[in-house]
Amino acid sequence: MPENTFTILGSSSGMPQADRACAGYLLKVDDRLSLIDCGGGVTSSFLRCGFDPLDVDRVFISHTHPDHCCELPLFIQMVYLTGRTRPLDIYLPEEFVKPFRAFLPAVYVIPEKLPFDLNLHGFTDGFTFSDGFSLRAIGNRHLQGYAEYLGNLQLANKMQCHSFRIEVPASSGRSAKCLFYSADVGDFADIKPHLDSVDYAVLELTHVELEPFFELAPTLSVGKFIISHLGDAEETARVTQMAAKVGLGNLRIAHDGLQLSL
Ligand SMILES: [Zn+2]
Ligand SMILES: [Zn+2]
Repeated sequence: MPENTFTILGSSSGMPQADRACAGYLLKVDDRLSLIDCGGGVTSSFLRCGFDPLDVDRVFISHTHPDHCCELPLFIQMVYLTGRTRPLDIYLPEEFVKPFRAFLPAVYVIPEKLPFDLNLHGFTDGFTFSDGFSLRAIGNRHLQGYAEYLGNLQLANKMQCHSFRIEVPASSGRSAKCLFYSADVGDFADIKPHLDSVDYAVLELTHVELEPFFELAPTLSVGKFIISHLGDAEETARVTQMAAKVGLGNLRIAHDGLQLSL
């Protein structure tokens, strides 16, 4: 039976790093792949990790900051050049479907020309996907800081950013697993209610005050904390030191290629 895994393709924060890709994660369940976020460098990282573009069934994007979605057109191009004929489903924050559909032809990725159906699906808070595993989108406040600008400029953005709770059911010889991917969040309070009783909490803590997190983390029943989306070595060292200070032994810093077993 093939192993189910969650691979960190890109562990860098929004400040690109020379040796790491921006946000990108790959869920493999029963040999079927779902890409989650597609920031800069993710396409190359996907190949470096030994995955086949033809095995990707779908893509989920948490929010539309460039470090989470800028390589999506390139990813579609890679899938096309590999010779895909099966449909590709892309789940986007609802606010992004129209602009993304309009943008693709400008970079000569013309859906009507592709030999496969490119299905763009918009989703909002509470959306649940289910097919061999389940994924629930949990809206968070990461983009709320833009409210004033959007209002002043009369932009149509809806500030949609989502964390994802992923449940992989038990199957012969394997127990059920639950993984929570925070994506960027506005505040620790956004993720606090969702951290208990998960096997893996893959957290992007860039915009979160670390003190309240490290105060609570040792009391939570989380199998492993995987901290991703960190910037330079100094930021990483700070997280590592704080974890050591509170005796949080089940925390790991993500690196590109790190694979979690589900
Ligand atoms: Zn980010
Ligand atoms: Zn972001």
